[in-house]
Amino acid sequence: MKSHARVVVIGGGVVGTSVLYHLTKAGWRDVLLVERAELTSGSTWHAAGGMHTVNGDPNVAKLQQYTIQLYKEIEAISGQSCGVHITGGVMLAGTRERLDWLKMAKARGRYLKMELEILSVDEAAKLFPLMDKRHFVGGMYDPIEGHVDPYGVTHAYAKSAQIGGAEIVRHTRVTDLRARSDGTWDVITDKGNVRAEHVVNAAGLWAREVGRMVGLELPVLAMEHQYLITGDMPELAGRKEQLHAIDFEGEIYLRQERGGMLMGTYERAGVPWSPLQTPWDFGQDLLPNDLERIAPSLAVGFEHFPSLEPAGIKKVVNGPFTFAPDGNPLVGPIKGLRNFWVACGVMAGFSQGGGVGLALSRWMVDGDPGADVWGMDVARYGDWTTLAYTNAKVRENYSRRFSIRFPNEELPAARPLRTTPIYEHLKAEHAVFGDYCALEHAQWFAPSAQAAHDEVSFSRSNSHPYVAAECRAVRDAVGLLEISNYGKFEVSGAQAAPWLSSIMANRIPPVGRIALSPMLNERGKLIGDFTLCRLAEDRFFLVGTYAAETYYLRWFERHAPPAGVSVRPCAMQYTGLSLAGPHSRALLQSVVRDDLATSAFPFMSFRRMEVGMVPAYVGRLSFTGALGYELWVSSEYQRALYELLMNAGRDYGLKLFGGRALNAMRIEKGFGTWAREFRPIYGPLEAGLGRFVALDKGEFVGRAAAAEEKEKGGALRLQCFKVAAGDADAIGDEPIWHEGKPVGWVTSGAYGHRVDASLALGYVPAELAAADSGFEIEIIGERRPALRLKEAPVDPAGSSMRI
Ligand SMILES: Cc1cc2nc3c(=O)[nH]c(=O)nc-3n(C[C@H](O)[C@H](O)[C@H](O)COP(=O)(O)OP(=O)(O)OC[C@H]3O[C@@H](n4cnc5c(N)ncnc54)[C@H](O)[C@@H]3O)c2cc1C
Repeated sequence: MKSHARVVVIGGGVVGTSVLYHLTKAGWRDVLLVERAELTSGSTWHAAGGMHTVNGDPNVAKLQQYTIQLYKEIEAISGQSCGVHITGGVMLAGTRERLDWLKMAKARGRYLKMELEILSVDEAAKLFPLMDKRHFVGGMYDPIEGHVDPYGVTHAYAKSAQIGGAEIVRHTRVTDLRARSDGTWDVITDKGNVRAEHVVNAAGLWAREVGRMVGLELPVLAMEHQYLITGDMPELAGRKEQLHAIDFEGEIYLRQERGGMLMGTYERAGVPWSPLQTPWDFGQDLLPNDLERIAPSLAVGFEHFPSLEPAGIKKVVNGPFTFAPDGNPLVGPIKGLRNFWVACGVMAGFSQGGGVGLALSRWMVDGDPGADVWGMDVARYGDWTTLAYTNAKVRENYSRRFSIRFPNEELPAARPLRTTPIYEHLKAEHAVFGDYCALEHAQWFAPSAQAAHDEVSFSRSNSHPYVAAECRAVRDAVGLLEISNYGKFEVSGAQAAPWLSSIMANRIPPVGRIALSPMLNERGKLIGDFTLCRLAEDRFFLVGTYAAETYYLRWFERHAPPAGVSVRPCAMQYTGLSLAGPHSRALLQSVVRDDLATSAFPFMSFRRMEVGMVPAYVGRLSFTGALGYELWVSSEYQRALYELLMNAGRDYGLKLFGGRALNAMRIEKGFGTWAREFRPIYGPLEAGLGRFVALDKGEFVGRAAAAEEKEKGGALRLQCFKVAAGDADAIGDEPIWHEGKPVGWVTSGAYGHRVDASLALGYVPAELAAADSGFEIEIIGERRPALRLKEAPVDPAGSSMRI
């Protein structure tokens, strides 16, 4: 084994070998993969090898498409067969809701250029004759589903990488990792040490243990997973096309395996494997079968596919593989650890391994993953992912693998975990909570304790009339919203302003003022949107997206502030409340001594004030677009502030409102938000943020690319649409049609209660941004006429927030 390498990849499963191959493909040849045993000795060797293109996140779906298309390439380079069988697959629906869900998946597939087809029960039965039609209402066909040989795929990646210059050592275990002060690593193994510029943790089943070597507790947990293979079935004798299906309601997947069927299940009572510590001596082992545990799924399988039972069970496989709490991979660099990268938690290695390898290799070589990988970025998690939290969430995710997640559905596991001081107060007002980064926040307020729950649905739900009343209160009087679920940072020091100016696209505000600013990467794409509040010459309070806190901190670390500038994340030290609506000023004025008249405290002002007895930062702005204020207080004051405002509010018609009303109101104003309208695939001009990019202020990250976008005009435009919806509004990811062709996609949708209209925000090609007619938005399989609005439907001039 060599003693120096540019990269050491730890782990020779499908993911590690894919990373290795992609690094060589990107031109890095001095790369070494270290494998504890033989290649595939983790979860890879016993996988069923199934692959699918459909994924809830369109950006992850694109990487899955890439993975499936890659197999030809690595077969050609390596001469090693991947055993690819593209059989096409049928996704079976047992209920109307499931069929609606499939229609939505098909619609999303349109702009991903997937050729999905909705099937009647009879059509589905032609493609998958083993089914008993009585249990199904229809299905969907994906022509590029199939399966591969896990051994073949892993060795094809490995050989292709070796041909590209990589070295692979087997039977060598990494036992420790030591960071050097110059950012390089000593990789300690049981066969000697390697000095590496970069280390990649692709240790699969042991990724958590390798993480612990560098002080990380990665949110991954292995679950036991079982599949069985039946004896030969006369129904399959002589069949040319191989059968492949998912029965969602039965929670099983099936595919032909020689003369029989392979049937796997994500059972409700899933069991974690090695929840605390993965044993190092686990190799190409299987776990004892537990048919008892999957008996309910087997019973359903035998009922839905009657010819399976008489075929008998020839073989059972029970093996562990790892999941992150949301079931998506964990990929990317780690904040605080130079040159340490992860590619783990990959639960669908044969659909996702190629995309993960591609994204990570680009990130390492070019400094950017080259695609929108927010959905699998390791930085989407923070400190709250304790071992027990991960355990609860992974078990929930596993048991719901084939369940529908409705747009208004909040999942119950690991809750409540994080609460703010007014949690019980809001509960007493019948708040229906959602969780965001494990923090409870009110979605809407029900009229009674009995009514305080969501009836989940793709259509407008039971919360609709109550959210409407909350929006009307903001329109006509005043509403109070908890806004603790934002990310916050204190930035201070003599050089704080120039440093912020070098990473933010907008001008830095003067003292006492607020500026909204996009943050761009070098490619000029959006990687954040911030509210910059200036407290003093050398002190700033930044508000951004809480889920992106680690992501931002990692970026700040990369564009390190000069000595003397301190950047402190303080999300949970400051909790917040927001007042919005025409009476908000009078209400707040009744409890502060400062003059709140526009002449004294205009729109976009920021100042420390005493609100009753409570010291607070007060900003004059509101994401609702109404006249409004945001109040930030050190958390121990939040309860007192809440009680003060609620009491004072009685005279002003104050009503509590929640996240759903806020979402509807920001869409009415055409305001975008992170992870929906703002993502690293859009430029600021495309996203309608051009006016917040100060190209003339001097150099900043992404300036050249933003200038180019401005000159060339950008490819896309964010637009607001009024949709002739039925009883279901757009929620996001629906295709936008223009004159009979899918041309774009929705990023957010909601019912706009202040204007009584169903609304959607979405991207269309720039050349269609001026088209007045011909748009449709496909909601649950139906193309609904959509009117492109020339301006935001509520207060387009923004006069009410400036009054
Ligand atoms: C029963 C079953 C069925 C499945 N079916 C499918 C399917 O149909 N389709 C699909 O896409 N996925 C399926 N999977 C999941 C799939 O197996 C995983 O997504 C995939 O194997 C993850 O690969 P990996 O490379 O991340 O991890 P692993 O395969 O666990 O590889 C990690 C490697 O790292 C090595 N290693 C760990 N620590 C060290 C160290 N300290 N030093 C050196 N080497 C180390 C290990 O020996 C191992 O070889 C299934 C899994 C199971 C268990």
